[in-house]
Amino acid sequence: MRCRGWYDKVVYKLHYYHDDQAVRYFHSSTNYTVLQARASDSGRYQCSGTMRIPVESAPMFSAKVVVTVQELFQTPVLRVMSPKEIRGTAHRRVVLRCETRLHPQKRDTPLQFAFYKYSRAVRRFDWGAEYTVPEPEVEELEAYWCEAATATRSVRKRSPWLQLPGLGLFFSHAGISRSVAIVTAFLMKTDHLTFEKAYENLQTIKPEAKMNEGFECQLKLYQAMGYEVDTSSAIYKQYRLQKVTEKYPELQNLPQELFAVDPTTISQGLKDEVLYKCRKCRRSLFRSSSILDHNEGSGPVAFAHKRMTPSFMLATGNQAQCTSYFIEPVQWMESTLLGVMDGQLLCPKCSAKLGSFNWYGEQCSCGRWITPAFQIHKNRVDEMKMLPVLGSQTRK
Ligand SMILES: [Zn+2]
Ligand SMILES: [Zn+2]
Repeated sequence: MRCRGWYDKVVYKLHYYHDDQAVRYFHSSTNYTVLQARASDSGRYQCSGTMRIPVESAPMFSAKVVVTVQELFQTPVLRVMSPKEIRGTAHRRVVLRCETRLHPQKRDTPLQFAFYKYSRAVRRFDWGAEYTVPEPEVEELEAYWCEAATATRSVRKRSPWLQLPGLGLFFSHAGISRSVAIVTAFLMKTDHLTFEKAYENLQTIKPEAKMNEGFECQLKLYQAMGYEVDTSSAIYKQYRLQKVTEKYPELQNLPQELFAVDPTTISQGLKDEVLYKCRKCRRSLFRSSSILDHNEGSGPVAFAHKRMTPSFMLATGNQAQCTSYFIEPVQWMESTLLGVMDGQLLCPKCSAKLGSFNWYGEQCSCGRWITPAFQIHKNRVDEMKMLPVLGSQTRK
């Protein structure tokens, strides 16, 4: 963007604004460049500054210019190709395909693809959108994700982790353990049994049926979700976040799907949702669907090292109050969170202190440990119920 005065005169004390927020300051006329434009850079841009005619004028504002950034291609999705789709089928081959769709006006743009297992590249950027998994690794499919990019890498996007059809949640290093887990899950769902009961029934018939702790944990989660794998549920999001520190110990290259969409970039789908804004500057921070609810702990008792008597626990437990919201990470936190174990969460607009995060967990005021924790103090944000007619207000 370029900002000049009348007759192309130099502008001093130059500010550029994006949706009424100052984004850049220059001493005198300098162009403002958004190097890696994203959809969130869309909006109304404006500049202000003074002119020397010959004495310095009061600050003057330009007209607003609307800029729309369109996505060159959609976020890719990694999926397992069916045997029918693979030509010249060698048996038991697993082929992954990294799929995306180019913008209709840019259909001829060549794209390259890279494939990753955990944070390690198993195939570097190349033209083919397919990758054959070496046979011994097939059991760990869920650890894969892919990246699509232009040849110059000016635009690159990561896929979510691979979701296996149906039982996307379940993966294993040992095939037997996996089969036992799948059969147990099946019994749980069809007969509405608890995990313990289903596992017990299976072991009555087949005493050698054993599964590892990882599966036990996942099946208890499955039970808690009501025998459905609901990826939008708080309990699933919490589980996925816990896995992050295992899969990405260096906390780099985290999949995009881990971050909730910044509420300032969405204008639809906010109906019936509560929006939380910075109390100081009113910037939208997160939506109610991002809150990961927890059962209240037993108040101050949970902090004590000694065990209290049950009657005392009851008395204080009733007064337990959570003074923070624990939420899933939102896009505006990304630069703060990457590669960092813990720290403060500041408002992306006014830098007011909102709360803190810790990938290894923090304790809520009610006593409950939340791992990992992204906590926002309730007294730093305001709740705003979005009425359908006010939908357009979300731009702010
Ligand atoms: Zn709490
Ligand atoms: Zn703020």
